[in-house]
Amino acid sequence: MAAGPSPKRFDRQVRFAPLGAAGQEKLESSRVLLVGCGALGGVLAQSLTRAGVGQLVLVDRDVVELTNLPRQVLFDEQHAAAGTPKALAARETLSRIGGPTAIESHAAHLDAGNLEQLAGPADLILDGTDNLETRYLLNDYAILRGIPWVYAGVVGGAGLVLPVRPGEGACLRCIFPDPPPPGSLPTCDSAGVILPAVGLVASMAAGLGLHLLVEPESVQAALIELDAWSGVVRRLPAPRDSDCPACAQGKLSFWHDGAGRKAEVLCGRNTVQIPPSQRSPDLALVADRLEGVATKILRAEVLVRFEVDGLTVTLFRDGRALVEGTEELERARSAYDRYVGN
Ligand SMILES: [Zn+2]
Repeated sequence: MAAGPSPKRFDRQVRFAPLGAAGQEKLESSRVLLVGCGALGGVLAQSLTRAGVGQLVLVDRDVVELTNLPRQVLFDEQHAAAGTPKALAARETLSRIGGPTAIESHAAHLDAGNLEQLAGPADLILDGTDNLETRYLLNDYAILRGIPWVYAGVVGGAGLVLPVRPGEGACLRCIFPDPPPPGSLPTCDSAGVILPAVGLVASMAAGLGLHLLVEPESVQAALIELDAWSGVVRRLPAPRDSDCPACAQGKLSFWHDGAGRKAEVLCGRNTVQIPPSQRSPDLALVADRLEGVATKILRAEVLVRFEVDGLTVTLFRDGRALVEGTEELERARSAYDRYVGN
């Protein structure tokens, strides 16, 4: 690995005046934690690797599937056929780009128990997840440690981006004080998603991420809505909320409480139990969203049961769920997040 900026390789981006040679040097000495390297995360990872950030830490708990290929740019049919963990497949593809970036990859579910260790001395955190609970955890942690981060979300043809500088402008909870109940928002697995929307949202997040690494004080707080289907882009001011539970009151509950809320394998039952969520799901709405996606949907007063991807999921009113057909925590969590949402 060469010391200092690599002048020839990065000539065109160094010519971009707001970045310049000094900015390139900052990029090459930066450490970035990227959580999730599927759709948004793939574009983010590629953007940061090609830009030459010094260290890129990838965390993803899923394996590559055929249905990922229309929008997850780091993966191919061989990865899908082999069921390669996304974090490892991403590293393989990114390594072929070369350049100064040291890529660390972790096939793991990120939670309050491993976040600090994985983040290390991160200069920036990027959101490539499809998981609200993880985003609220990242927001808490970013505030706790004063690390800038970029929220990004996409469903269907559109998405949202929010750059967060702790203490300056809005954090995630200034805008969305609490996560919605599980199952109340559409997910990519129920409502679909198209690559142009992923690319648009992730590219905006990557641009703001590079900007945060190079010159954070000039990044303006705003919630940016981007629609790749209608062509509509809106930028909403995002002032800090003086009553925000996280950045104003310092109640970092997703960080402090998170470690105790772990999924667990129920011994001898080939079943994983997902713990209750902080807010109760609307079971009827969850069942409605699953029509045409899951099979054998059973609606009862206290639960919804359905079959999907070879698993039987039973969701209770408090958000607790039993996922039968696996003893892999990450596969069970992933099914919960994809088909129930969180
Ligand atoms: Zn806040």
